[in-house]
Amino acid sequence: MLAMNYRGPYRVRCATKSDPVIEHDGDAIVQVSRSCICGSDLHLYHGLVPDTRVGTTFGHEFVGRVVEVGPGVRTLKPGDDVLVPFNVFCGACFFCQRELYGNCHNVNPEATAAGGIYGYSHTTGGYDGGQAQFVRVPMADVGPLKLPEGLSIDDAVLLTDAFPTGYQAAEMGSIDEGDTVVVFGAGPVGLFAAKSAWWMGAGRVIVVDQVDYRLEFARRFAHCETIDFRQVHDMAIHIKKLTDGLGADVCIDAVGCEAAGNALQHLTGVKLKLQSGSATVLHWAINSVRKGGTVSIVGVYGPTFNFVPIGNAVNKGLTMKSGQTHMHRYMKPLLQKIEKGEIDPSFIITHKIPIDQAPEMYKTFRDKKDGCIKVVIKP
Ligand code: NAD
Ligand code: ZN
Repeated sequence: MLAMNYRGPYRVRCATKSDPVIEHDGDAIVQVSRSCICGSDLHLYHGLVPDTRVGTTFGHEFVGRVVEVGPGVRTLKPGDDVLVPFNVFCGACFFCQRELYGNCHNVNPEATAAGGIYGYSHTTGGYDGGQAQFVRVPMADVGPLKLPEGLSIDDAVLLTDAFPTGYQAAEMGSIDEGDTVVVFGAGPVGLFAAKSAWWMGAGRVIVVDQVDYRLEFARRFAHCETIDFRQVHDMAIHIKKLTDGLGADVCIDAVGCEAAGNALQHLTGVKLKLQSGSATVLHWAINSVRKGGTVSIVGVYGPTFNFVPIGNAVNKGLTMKSGQTHMHRYMKPLLQKIEKGEIDPSFIITHKIPIDQAPEMYKTFRDKKDGCIKVVIKP
């Protein structure tokens, strides 16, 4: 089969690889019909995630058709179209029983922190991902959801990560009626977080980024205010000025470890790797939220330490919530929102490409060129 192939930092290729096979009774093999490139893949691409092995295939957002199932699979059969959440999880362990699917204890030998994720290094289990023609789906009775009649595959593929992640980001903000919510990052995750914040009662939603076309897109898609951080000298002061001197009620980090905007953070976190990525947005979020406010973090950071202003967080009495998305909580409720016409997630797809163009498209997406917001691969 053809698959995206990691060759080391800043190098990905499309290569021929052996087809995946059933390894356990509960596995299914899925022929991928759509898969996305995510901001999370950029962290892998840039060598910021430990134990990303040469030869791995990325891709944790995919939908496809079941072509083979192991003898233990009960609910799926060849021919079924499925959307597959990015968490690999067992559904039965201590954590899954508490709906903490992103922290499943049975799918990752390194399970002290994250659980399993397709195509996301050996720190999340070493599973190959869906930027390929075929992918092995373990525990196939647990994760995948059969594609309901009438749901477009483009909407479905956004239900495998970006939309639920944005939604969880807003939910973790515990937004009260009328709250001012600041979302850092106008990528797919930030856009869906901004949109979701309105559903949860926000009175004001402000999205921060530095890419003009993305800020413009955010205003159109999420009907929010925007801040171009290149124009701002001090983010915390700027946001206080916008909020009667108090600060935002909720700040959401939808940027993660490659945040721009502070040269020292970028040098130590992204270039020299002295800390696990740039903590710029963590500083901005902690310092821009009001006393007693909430910081919600879905931007990805590596497992080692950061230079984070934790003293400010403690002294301000903040609530901080974070996490990989617990996908299984959200897929069905958000599917209903699509069915009711409350949102059209596929609106954010700007590029659809065959798999051999994936290496080029990693660069376009990374450089935020060509109006790129979300790339979908049709392998
Ligand atoms: P993306 O790369 O499309 O978007 C990130 C945006 O942040 C870009 O538009 C960039 O210009 C902007 N940005 C950079 N520095 C900034 C700063 N200092 N302030 C404000 N904006 C800044 O990525 P995405 O697909 O939207 O993903 C966003 C983050 O969410 C990534 O870290 C990704 O790994 C993470 N993520 C987490 C989960 C989860 O389960 N927790 C799931 C999916 C994605
Ligand atoms: Zn993703």
